[in-house]
Amino acid sequence: MSILGKPYFHDEAAAFEHVESVIWPDGPVCPHCGALDRISKIAPNPKARVRFGLHKCGHCKGQFTVRVGTVFEASKVPLHKWLQAIYLMCSNKNGISAHQLHRVLEVTYKTAWFMEHRIRQAIRDGDLSPFDPNGGAVEVDETFISHDATIKPRHSKKGRGVAHKRKVLALVDRGSGRARTMVVDDLKASTIAPIVRENVASEAHLMTDEGCYHTLVSREFAAHGVVRHNRGEYGRSYTHMNTIEGCFSISKRGMKGVYQRCAKRHLNRYLAEFEFRYNNRVANGLRDSARSAIALRGTVGKRLIYGDSSATRG
Ligand SMILES: [Zn+2]
Repeated sequence: MSILGKPYFHDEAAAFEHVESVIWPDGPVCPHCGALDRISKIAPNPKARVRFGLHKCGHCKGQFTVRVGTVFEASKVPLHKWLQAIYLMCSNKNGISAHQLHRVLEVTYKTAWFMEHRIRQAIRDGDLSPFDPNGGAVEVDETFISHDATIKPRHSKKGRGVAHKRKVLALVDRGSGRARTMVVDDLKASTIAPIVRENVASEAHLMTDEGCYHTLVSREFAAHGVVRHNRGEYGRSYTHMNTIEGCFSISKRGMKGVYQRCAKRHLNRYLAEFEFRYNNRVANGLRDSARSAIALRGTVGKRLIYGDSSATRG
């Protein structure tokens, strides 16, 4: 049987069982009062509308399903379609467009778009600890992704230069293989240096190219390797930027090929999606189903209100 033949991708009762087993590994938890015991499952009433996975708490008498308090709450999309969407987003290296998802799941484009944004909310990594306090290499670099329509190019020659492009700063911890990406307004030393300080441990071995922010932060780290691209250098043994180049190539390919355009305010969410797949990639010991399970656990406590992602599509 192929992975897509799993019952939880097709059968709603099986989908609830699967989500419960991932979100409640030690048994159901009442979202109303936090109780762990005296929770009973309500058998579906064949005469009424079937409500899958309904539980009742013996303490507060409240009823709930595993969807309460997750990004699935208040969504009319069946849970098994949510599981398909999560799997597709977690297993496609370049991501999956809302148009493609709309066709595969047979939901409206708008629904697919909201589902994708909710899943992005679920996979957002809240880890803010500085990279490599053990003295390993941390590569820091910037890249440019698509146009920023809010900035007018200074020169008349269209498409030249980078001033009108969206700037993205990334950090890759070579030891743990993890990346962190963020959209920045500009690449001035005064903008970049505080981010580098905040996200890289002072014990780390900083790796950068000849960007302008070095002079500000160079002495604050245990060591600093510089790859001088302008002298035709592409790295010497330990001092290189190959890891971060690889990381960028995936997100750039995905942004260009799959997502094509996105509103500036959403770019961080798309980047977080690439970051999630990168940090939970096969080389880090995670396969598609394990990655999907992590995303599923991330749905808890991240109920996305419609207004949050803004009603306009980007
Ligand atoms: Zn309760």
